[in-house]
Amino acid sequence: MSKKHGKHKSGQSGDGAGVTEPSGLSHGQVRPPSTSLWVHAADEIAGVAPGSVEAHGSGAVAAAPGIAVVAPGTPFDLAGVDTAADGGLDKDWTKEALREERARIDALQERLYAERRRSLLLVFQAIDTGGKDGTIRAVLKGVNPQGCTVASFKVPSAEELDHDFLWRYHARTPGRGMIGVFNRSHYEDVLVVRVKGLVPDAVWRARYGLINDFERLLAESGTTILKFFLHISKDEQRRRLEARIANPEKHWKFDPADLVERKSWDSYQEAFADALTRCSTPHAPWLVVPADKKWFRNYVIAKTVADTLAAMDPHFPDAAKDIADLVVPD
Ligand code: AMP
Ligand code: MG
Repeated sequence: MSKKHGKHKSGQSGDGAGVTEPSGLSHGQVRPPSTSLWVHAADEIAGVAPGSVEAHGSGAVAAAPGIAVVAPGTPFDLAGVDTAADGGLDKDWTKEALREERARIDALQERLYAERRRSLLLVFQAIDTGGKDGTIRAVLKGVNPQGCTVASFKVPSAEELDHDFLWRYHARTPGRGMIGVFNRSHYEDVLVVRVKGLVPDAVWRARYGLINDFERLLAESGTTILKFFLHISKDEQRRRLEARIANPEKHWKFDPADLVERKSWDSYQEAFADALTRCSTPHAPWLVVPADKKWFRNYVIAKTVADTLAAMDPHFPDAAKDIADLVVPD
């Protein structure tokens, strides 16, 4: 796999990479946890409201530096992303900064819950061992469980297969006031399903448009959508699989089927690239996260979630009039 260290290519100049660079960190530079750029960008997503979806043509998002935002409709060069990028951030600093981002998420989530008007959906996709479980634990640790739902999607049941492919996902979308997390998602139906040929080509090909319509329905109904693709290298997957095999405490996570799936690595990369390209939209952009370094991955995702919530700017509802004058009876 070819790797470019430092900056991702810009997709705006027609070079075909399909990447909009947020604002690359130069090597050795450590940024404080907040930048106005990120907050402003988040506003672009969070501002999506009924009737205004099409107006957000640029698809700017609250992506932290180091995360690539896939430009809608532009072929995305996954192999051109340095999966080991860390933006020059210091690992120890990042751990402390991650705690701060979690505290921000927790505080903003309380407001979102109290406001009970809108919701946030976090979608995580990755190849096997890509880090979906670890990211969810690291980013959402400390968030009030009552304001959060997590749905992990496995091989569909017979009942699920008796319905349209989006049925089981729609049923698990977050209600008003909630943060919803999809550990795997409706994208499996254009990923594993495509790679393994579980349905005819014409069926999965039609799904990209259906997925875009589904996500637009959610966006127009008050759900802000952040889709994270955790991008690891094939070498990193080998290391992680070997670590699972070597450590008895990780055996429960080891699935021999992952070794079989690894043989289809290239087909998965192709399927991922197509999904990113076809389904990155102004109302639900795809964010590609260099994910070989778990500490970097966790921090930039937490930062992105916190900034997006901040831009949504949830408010506590107005208290009933004169509540401060009330007296609790004996
Ligand atoms: P894991 O997330 O490692 O527990 O594994 C869940 C498994 O379910 C993976 O092998 C996925 O590829 C598979 N899976 C998830 N969604 C679908 C789907 N829609 N169709 C077929 N397999 C799926
Ligand atoms: Mg697995």
